[in-house]
Amino acid sequence: MSRRLFNFNGGVKPPYNKEASLGEAIADFFAVAPMPAEFVIPLHQSVGGPPHPLVKAGETVKKGQLIGGPDGNVSSAVHASTSGRVKAVEMRLMPHTSGLSALCVVIEPDGKDEWIDHAPVPWRSMSPGEVRDALRDAGVVGLGGAVFPSHLKVNPGKQGHLDTLVINGAECEPFITCDDMQMRQRPDGIIKGAAILRDLTQAKQVLIGIEDNKPEAVAIMRAAVDRLQAERIEIVAVPTRYPAGGAKQLIRVLTGIEVAHGKRSTDYGVQCFNTGTAHAIHDALELGRPMISRILTVAGNVDRPRNFEVRFGTPMNDVVALCGARPDSDRYIMGGPMMGYRMPAETVPVVKATNCILVGSKAMFPPPPPEMPCIRCGECAKACPSDLAPFELFWFSRAKIFGKAQEYHLFDCIECGCCAYVCPANIPLVDYYRFAKSEIWARENEKSAADTARERYEFRLAREERDKAEKATRLAAKAAETKAKLAEQQAGSDAKKDLIAAAAARVADAENKTNAS
Ligand code: SF4
Ligand code: SF4
Repeated sequence: MSRRLFNFNGGVKPPYNKEASLGEAIADFFAVAPMPAEFVIPLHQSVGGPPHPLVKAGETVKKGQLIGGPDGNVSSAVHASTSGRVKAVEMRLMPHTSGLSALCVVIEPDGKDEWIDHAPVPWRSMSPGEVRDALRDAGVVGLGGAVFPSHLKVNPGKQGHLDTLVINGAECEPFITCDDMQMRQRPDGIIKGAAILRDLTQAKQVLIGIEDNKPEAVAIMRAAVDRLQAERIEIVAVPTRYPAGGAKQLIRVLTGIEVAHGKRSTDYGVQCFNTGTAHAIHDALELGRPMISRILTVAGNVDRPRNFEVRFGTPMNDVVALCGARPDSDRYIMGGPMMGYRMPAETVPVVKATNCILVGSKAMFPPPPPEMPCIRCGECAKACPSDLAPFELFWFSRAKIFGKAQEYHLFDCIECGCCAYVCPANIPLVDYYRFAKSEIWARENEKSAADTARERYEFRLAREERDKAEKATRLAAKAAETKAKLAEQQAGSDAKKDLIAAAAARVADAENKTNAS
């Protein structure tokens, strides 16, 4: 009997454009390209605190060596992508639309590509906390694009087990095929990773959701489940509709659970990981290999679109060079056309979030028509898979009424772009939401910095007050002690005087008696 599936609200059907990059097998970038002159490895590649550098310029490193130590629990480690010499630890341009720089470890390869000693992690005999630490130290983060540290999600929750573990192989964004190709070529690692996650979270069932426009992947993954005799793991083909790969949308389709605004899927006993992340968890625990590379798609305005396994820190233009960017190419987009970001330069490095380098041109992505006033048609609301009111969010974001935007659940917006896709007024709605989110984050950061400064000031005042009070108590004690000593001395001196007087009296008395006789 086939599993009952559910619908999510909204969504769109953009042209998928995936076929072009499915023609060739995944290539190991190192096997087909010269070694890059340098690897620029950003320390901050995940959600959470940026790791702190553990190496200095001039030091030699091996492949897989820890070069960025996690900053607390909500952070993830970073490792050397190859062996070589640390050229610098310095600010370099990030693969981010902001055009900002961040601290990077720059490695000049020695060409030996020599691994550091590594061994499988005995995770079955470790406590849950130790396994989470091992995943954090292996730098495993979500490879679906969100780069959330995976160790924080490997948790059976309050009830001691998950009802459902969802493994996301939907890959709904146009042009991107890295998950599809990984499922076709490396299914065993994904299934074994899913089984590890099943055991760590005590999940009653594991559902691997794959859009039904990937029939080869569905068949290969089903065969792998049978071959590996993976218990409680089921491959489910889900209808193709963007954004079926959103975590909440896939959970809805597979389980019927509607995750309410402000809630997490774990509140309903469900957790979600990407297929690539499941594979990376397998590699980290069963092979002892930290995350130093990922599979990514190069597509768009290139002669030979395809997938590569690429080490982090490799310049994007080195990868694109293998695909023959056409002469009119004028941009790199990291991600797909719906959710991707334009890169500030072609030389920025591949990072953990790079699932696709989409090469664009003016012909492929013509400038958008001029933005018109909103006509309140409501099409955006119909298309929104998160059940938001995009036009209200637009008004509040544009007017900088951020409190209202938050009231309308701005942070439940997954930036899928469906609203902008259908908007007849050509309003770049997602740009407004990103602006509003970054402003709110900046203000919260400022507030938290101000709060920290205020707390420090209050702490200093309290400490000064305490020091003052302690000093006063010490002085008072000393004064009391001195007074007591003086009193004692005084008492001693009075007693002495009395003794002398008594002695003098005795002498006088004796003299009187002598004179009288
Ligand atoms: S689709 Fe565009 S024009 Fe229509 S209500 Fe939404 S924002 Fe306004
Ligand atoms: S970008 Fe946000 S508001 Fe627009 S459709 Fe997607 S989730 Fe809804």
